[in-house]
Amino acid sequence: MEPNPAAEVMGADKAHLWHPFTPMRQWAAEDQLLIVRGEGNYLYDARGRSYLDGVSSLWVTVHGHNHPVINAAIKDQVDQVAHTTLLGLASPPAALLAKALAGLAPAGLTRVFYSDAGATGVEIALKMAFQFWAQSGRPGKKNFAGLRHAYHGDTLGAVSVGGMDLFHEKFRPLLFEVTRLSAPYCYRCPLGLTYPDCSLACAEQGAKIIRQRADDLAALIIEPMVMGAAGMIAFPDGYLSLIRQACMDADVLFIADCVAVGFGRTGRMFAGEIEGVEPDLMCLGKGLSGGYLPLAATLATDRVFEAFLGEIDQEKTFFHGHTFTGNPVACAAALASLDLFERDQVIDSLPPKIERLAKALSLLRDHPGVGDVRQRGLMVGIELVADQKTKAGFPPGDRIGHRVILAARRRGVILRPLGDVIVLMPPLSITVEELDTLVKVTTEALEEVIG
Ligand code: PMP
Repeated sequence: MEPNPAAEVMGADKAHLWHPFTPMRQWAAEDQLLIVRGEGNYLYDARGRSYLDGVSSLWVTVHGHNHPVINAAIKDQVDQVAHTTLLGLASPPAALLAKALAGLAPAGLTRVFYSDAGATGVEIALKMAFQFWAQSGRPGKKNFAGLRHAYHGDTLGAVSVGGMDLFHEKFRPLLFEVTRLSAPYCYRCPLGLTYPDCSLACAEQGAKIIRQRADDLAALIIEPMVMGAAGMIAFPDGYLSLIRQACMDADVLFIADCVAVGFGRTGRMFAGEIEGVEPDLMCLGKGLSGGYLPLAATLATDRVFEAFLGEIDQEKTFFHGHTFTGNPVACAAALASLDLFERDQVIDSLPPKIERLAKALSLLRDHPGVGDVRQRGLMVGIELVADQKTKAGFPPGDRIGHRVILAARRRGVILRPLGDVIVLMPPLSITVEELDTLVKVTTEALEEVIG
């Protein structure tokens, strides 16, 4: 097929495509960027202009685009078979990846259940937790706890445990009730306190609720160390382990949603490692396949898994699955990505990059219009405010975040904001020089838009 001229593609896009999380009237009215190629940490538009991928193509790209090792693994697998089902059949990439993940994951997580999106990975964890208690003689433990402002995906179970009003409130009549704990959003502390003088009062409050609800809570779900879509809310040290301990005391399953914070983003392979937290269930997605293909996994402990074992007539089976569960090509990409983590010692390469990023960001903190700069590893949120003293935000109609990322784009950097929080989340393969460029361009874009 002849390559499509850009005008024809954009015509088809604007006439027929419905973009996710996108105000479509505004989309149709504005010029849009057509990305046709990627190479390393850069994306290329239809005119051949390059852009530094400052958000890893929505937090997924790990080792860079168009990586020869992952490309080769995918091509090899396609030459064998592109898809076979895990319903009733075994498949080498799925089995070998499950073994590799069990070897890498925090202790105790030995079983891997595949799906194809972060949201489905979360859905599976919720259903597993619910059925686990029903089959463990405690059917009263059927409720869930989660954090305010949390984001766990867009399917209805994931939306139920989510806590972002803008995205989730409209669907409230369709959702199940969830017990909400305060998020450790230190910049706008829900308790009006200041860290560290607060002695983690929000965590103590959350822990108390969990302990009081030991009889009816099935599980707590949490994004360990950084709440991504909430605006890169980075946890104060100690919050996560305190909440984990309360779950252990109350025998409430602890679901770590590592969809965003998995695979090195926080500086460790899985974010919970920072505080030695070992979940009962862990959800992975995004970077799992190196950011190449849709693949998610829900990892479970032996304790959880064994509650699903029984005679056929006991009906203990987990009746859940998706057509493309454990797709061999996606699993082959994931195996290649894990090989690269080892071959290139990716995790060990991160500390100097994280430090360099912190140094570059430190200059931004005093910028008028910047309320807060949050960083954990290579995950950054820059919260923009109209007034630094009162922390008042900009009117949503001003679309400040959107305008900042357009200004960055004109300077050759692709970003994606969360409202008025500018997110930086580059591939782990980014160089220190490229990190400097990323922060420099972000600063210039801020200056252009908010002076
Ligand atoms: N959990 C978290 C923490 C996420 O950040 C996301 C996506 N941003 C999801 C779940 C949902 O993943 P997906 O978009 O692949 O369904």
